[in-house]
Amino acid sequence: MDEDVFRRRTDRVQAALRDAGADAAVLFPSSNLHYLSGFEEEPSERHLFLFVPSEGDPVFVVPALYETQVRAESWVETVHAYGDDEDPLALVEEVLGSFASGSPHVLVDDSMWATFTQDLRVVLPKASWGLASDVLAPVRMRKDDAEVAALTRAGAVADEVSEWVRAMDAAVVGSTERELARDIERELQDRGASNLAFPVIVGSGPNGAMPHHTHGDREIERGDPVVLDFGGFVDDYPGDQTRTVVFAGDPPEEFEHVHDVVRNAQQAAIDAIEPGVEAQAVDAAARDVIESAGYGDAFVHRTGHGVGLDVHEPPYVVDGNDRELEPGMVFSVEPGVYLEDRFGVRIEDLVVVTDDGHERLNDTDRGWRCD
Ligand code: ZN
Ligand code: ZN
Repeated sequence: MDEDVFRRRTDRVQAALRDAGADAAVLFPSSNLHYLSGFEEEPSERHLFLFVPSEGDPVFVVPALYETQVRAESWVETVHAYGDDEDPLALVEEVLGSFASGSPHVLVDDSMWATFTQDLRVVLPKASWGLASDVLAPVRMRKDDAEVAALTRAGAVADEVSEWVRAMDAAVVGSTERELARDIERELQDRGASNLAFPVIVGSGPNGAMPHHTHGDREIERGDPVVLDFGGFVDDYPGDQTRTVVFAGDPPEEFEHVHDVVRNAQQAAIDAIEPGVEAQAVDAAARDVIESAGYGDAFVHRTGHGVGLDVHEPPYVVDGNDRELEPGMVFSVEPGVYLEDRFGVRIEDLVVVTDDGHERLNDTDRGWRCD
């Protein structure tokens, strides 16, 4: 992505910092740091910070072994490096002190390890502290065109694999959940996903009644309802799609009815999506359908989650979230009904809010039949 994108994002975050009365945000390896700088890395024991002041350019403090990589992958010009034999805190104190003196208000990355937040407290004993998500989440929630394009490609990859699974139909009977999960993983990667967005979920028969079951050694039998939930990263953005299907054979009693209810609930929630509507109204639209069908107690989770650099991020589609939807927000709509020891049904698509309504980023068959 070109530098303008990162500058624009940084400008918006800096304006939000000023509105929040904050002097700076301190990020460490995370999706927040990735979003603003372009540099992506896993956290480690070495101090690696991006300091974003409320005015002026951001500054990196990095271990020397990262210096070349950070300069190559990020637009940020000021990169201070320290060697393994040097004390990083002296450098941190110098950088942070240059734009956060006296009793500053500083926002730290939400997922920053406690060992680093403790160090920051030592460096700035008089500071007051907050969370960086207060300024970053509202900015990250509204995706720009390049982000929506990446999410659309990730959605298309998930859709292709969904069609591939359906076409297997009876050939799936007799394989284990784990084998099918591995096949799905390979198909996602063959179609352009760089990595799994999360472990592939194959919940067959009673396992489908546990929303967080990933996959195990259970053999998929004829007529088993199977919850298939998966997605891969394309250009840093994930897919996340769920279908509940039956491979050859007749499904158990009540399944068809439950599947209809969940499908109608998902449609009702999606129909409710447009700018200005509160996120909780989308949840209510799905929940009303499921409750009036008598399955309210079996819908044990929120209706959806925002999707961006993180597979789960704001806005959350949940009762109590009165945030109004805005164009560019992308989130999942995934109602489910889980009948213990029997089966589960979940149907999930990603949806982007547009100027006059919404658009689905997944659009394959939502029915349960494979043929
Ligand atoms: Zn999912
Ligand atoms: Zn999801």
